[in-house]
Order: sequence, then structure tokens, then C-alpha cells
Amino acid sequence: MHAGRRARRGSPGGQDRSRSGREVERLAVVEPGVVNDDLRAACAERGLWYPPDPASSPWSTLGGNVATNAGGLCCVKYGVTRDYVLGMQVVTGTGELVRLGRRTAKGVAGYDLAGLMVGSEGTLGVITEITVRLRAQRAPERTVAGYFSSTVAAGVAAAEIAAAGIVPSALELIDKHCLAAVDAWKNMGLSADAEVVLLGRSDAPGAAGEVEAATMLSCFEKAGATWAAQSSDQAEADALFEARRLAYPALERLGPVLTEDVCVPAFRVPEMLARIDRTARRHDVVIANIAHIGDGNLHPLLITPPGDDAARARAQLAFDEIIADALDLGGTVTGEHGVGLLKRDGLRQELGPVVLDLHQAVKAALDPHGIFNPGKVIPERMARVCE
Ligand SMILES: Cc1cc2nc3c(=O)[nH]c(=O)nc-3n(C[C@H](O)[C@H](O)[C@H](O)COP(=O)(O)OP(=O)(O)OC[C@H]3O[C@@H](n4cnc5c(N)ncnc54)[C@H](O)[C@@H]3O)c2cc1C
Repeated sequence: MHAGRRARRGSPGGQDRSRSGREVERLAVVEPGVVNDDLRAACAERGLWYPPDPASSPWSTLGGNVATNAGGLCCVKYGVTRDYVLGMQVVTGTGELVRLGRRTAKGVAGYDLAGLMVGSEGTLGVITEITVRLRAQRAPERTVAGYFSSTVAAGVAAAEIAAAGIVPSALELIDKHCLAAVDAWKNMGLSADAEVVLLGRSDAPGAAGEVEAATMLSCFEKAGATWAAQSSDQAEADALFEARRLAYPALERLGPVLTEDVCVPAFRVPEMLARIDRTARRHDVVIANIAHIGDGNLHPLLITPPGDDAARARAQLAFDEIIADALDLGGTVTGEHGVGLLKRDGLRQELGPVVLDLHQAVKAALDPHGIFNPGKVIPERMARVCE
């Protein structure tokens, strides 16, 4: 299938139901301005599925998703954008239009330059067309919800699920700050009883799905959930996931938000969450939490009252401390949002000087005139030499 600026919709049951080569091969060729949800809707009309589903899917574009290697809610089971990009057309730093990658299921001809573009945050070229692989649509999901008295207890539940060998199709954390902010904004009637809510999903078909849901439920209970149940009401389950998606814009209505995006190994999640709690107390900063917790990808959101410069300075200290803690626990400074300007120092700490030099060499080779997002992600070579 080919998707233009908005993914082109077929007419189910209409003349264009004949399956094209791309549908048979489960490929979509997409312009970079296509919105993620539009591609997913166009795929669904053909019984196909494009898995990467960042919480920003209603407005973020495939170009942005590829350039940031976006993750999302189902990535715990289905991987990130990189796992779906086969090839692309790119304008290079010297103005040539080139094709990178492939459209075949396998292929190892040359360096993986298409892979290099994924997650390069617009620093290596301009992507003008993307070929993504698709999957067949999956079974409907079962949802398990649990309330916990702390983020750490929810982190223990996530670690229990990993230890039980379950790979949920989503495992998301949302805390009371986020639920309250979403409810104040959208009046969704969300429960005020829970400090933290954990949402697990299984899309395993039939009896296997029942077993996965039951195992998640018992992991929630074992970790001390104050309440847990498998949802029998799809609308209620969808509302909780909708609240998860809306958490960030809802919090932004309260004041400036510094968004963290650290990712730690699964067994380190409870310790990382405990450290975030301690950081909030130490620096007297309100930290709300959402997380793709099944991936160990945590989004502590540091909220400061508008115009409060002292609080902003404390939040910056807390932000830096969280990065240092993530690295200390064997994690990374960014799980999915990218480095941009905010995480350049963190990147430097994570990579070390030799690997940073390799990055700068790649940047110099692909963008010899320094025209693509200059200064973003990696410090420019001259800047480092002069330090
Ligand atoms: C509320 C909210 C929720 C979010 N949830 C998630 C989430 O769950 N998972 C996740 O991974 N991210 C998430 N994000 C971050 C962000 O939405 C994603 O990184 C998304 O992929 C960015 O897409 P965009 O179209 O908004 O890109 P932009 O923000 O416009 O661009 C992002 C970067 O990509 C580069 N770029 C864009 N198009 C091209 C192109 N054609 N060629 C080369 N470079 C290009 C830009 O230069 C920039 O560096 C969230 C953000 C918000 C605000």
C-alpha cells in the first residue's frame, strides 16, 4: 500500500479490494508527513497492523517517528519503529536523493545506512519516503488493571511479570498526579483511590490470553496491589489507556514540565523508581510518573509552578540526578524521545569520548556542511576540540 500526506483509505468491499504486491508482502510506502494514527487506520482497513504506537500517535508523523525511533505502548512486545523500517528515500548532506535499505524480507548488502537514519533526529539527512513492514491484525486484547500504594510497588509487579516469563502487549504505569490532571481536564470520572495504576494487556489469542491475563493478575497481587481485576468492560479499559495517552498534555496545563525519558533494565525498575521518589523529596519538586514500565522506560515529569524560577532550578538539579541514577543502574539517558538539546550532556556521559568521536565522524561524513539540525544531539567536533 502507498500512503500520501494522509494515509490513503481503501473502500472495504469496493473495487480496490484486490491485494497488491505490497499488501501480500505486508509493506507500506509512506510519505514522512503521514500521521501515525492515519497509517494505522489505513492498515486496519486492509486487515493489517503497523505496531509502533507512541502516545503522540494522533498527531506525530512517520518522519518524526523514524527520526526519533519512536517507541510506544505496544513496544514491550512488538519492538520500536526501527523494527519496522525496511528502507527509505533520503536527501543527503550534499543534496543528492538516494534510496537506502531494501524492500525484501532479508538483505545485508552494505552498511545498514537506513538503520543509521532511524533515530538520528534529523542530523544526518532529510527523509522523504519510508518503506515500513506491517503485521497481520492481532486478536483483541484483554486488560488487567491494578492499584498500588507506590510507584515502587508497581515496579515490583512489573519485575514479577518479567520474571514469570510473560511478555504483555502493553504494560503501562500512570500515577495519581496524572490521573487527577487528566480528570480535571477531560472529566473522565477516573478513580481517585489509587496512588498508582498499572495497566497490563495480553493479545495472545484464546486460552493463552486467559493464562497471560491471570498470571499478570497474580503478579499484581503478589506485589501488593490494593485492588486488581481483569476488566470485563472494554470501554472502561480503553478509557484508562486514553488517560495514559493524555497524561502529558494534561500535566502541561498545570505549568512548565521537564520530561524525563530514562530507560533501565527490567530488574532495576523498582530501585530506579525509589531513587526518583528520593530525588523528588530531596529537591522539593513535584514529580508525576508515567512509564512504559514493561520496557523499563520511565517518564518522570517534573512540574514547576509557572514563573517560579527557584522551583525551575531545583527541577533541573533533580533532572540531572535522575539521569545520573539511570546511568548508575546500567540504563540509558533516553529510551525513546531522543537527545535533542536537553540530553546532550547525558549522551556525553553515556557514550564516553571514543564512541562520541565515532558519532562525530559519522556526522562529518554524512553532513559535511553541518546543515542538518546543527548543534543537536552531538556536540560539534570543533566545539569538543576547543574544550
Ligand atoms: C504527549 C506526548 C506523548 C509522547 N509519547 C511518546 C511515546 O509514547 N513514545 C515515543 O517514542 N515518543 C513519544 N513522544 C515524543 C514524540 O511524539 C515522538 O518522538 C514523535 O516520534 C515525534 O514525531 P513528530 O512528527 O512530532 O516529529 P517532530 O517533533 O516534528 O520531529 C522530531 C525530530 O525528527 C526530525 N524529523 C522530523 N521529520 C523528519 C524527516 N522527514 N527527515 C529527517 N528528520 C525528521 C526533526 O528534525 C526532529 O529532530 C511523545 C510526545 C508528546 C508531546
